[in-house]
Amino acid sequence: MDGDDVPRRFVTQDEWGGWVMRRLDDGWCAALDRDTMRCTIYARRPDNCRVFEMGDSDCQRERLLYYTPANALTPDARKTSQ
Ligand code: SF4
Repeated sequence: MDGDDVPRRFVTQDEWGGWVMRRLDDGWCAALDRDTMRCTIYARRPDNCRVFEMGDSDCQRERLLYYTPANALTPDARKTSQ
């Protein structure tokens, strides 16, 4: 995330000291609007998010893993499904 302009309140350091997007208890990115499922910092999103093409196979996979409203997967359930 070096060189990115992400608001500091949305980032945290991982166990290796790298800067990553902070996640809330539901496992989703802290910058995600839970009601609209839109990025609240779209213009300032990190480079990783810019290269992640919306609707491609990786995106569809993440949506299947996380966005199942009737049966939302917890972060622990996600780990075991990989
Ligand atoms: S694009 Fe998604 S993962 Fe990236 S900062 Fe926005 S809400 Fe977070």
